[in-house]
Amino acid sequence: MNITVSQNRCPQNHHCPSIRVCPVGAISQNGFKAPTIDPEKCISCKKCVKYCPMGAIRVTE
Ligand code: SF4
Repeated sequence: MNITVSQNRCPQNHHCPSIRVCPVGAISQNGFKAPTIDPEKCISCKKCVKYCPMGAIRVTE
């Protein structure tokens, strides 16, 4: 399972609120750009998937 960020769904105009819900610090953001998820750190807990109000973070197989 991979967690991915949809560039199209993320409006890229704010600090990503899901960054602070990630228990392992796997999400990083450069300015207001769509965040990126470090697959080496991510434990696929899906907290960010539930938290993103835009539905921009999703589970992909
Ligand atoms: S699924 Fe969990 S561990 Fe992975 S980036 Fe999202 S909050 Fe962090």
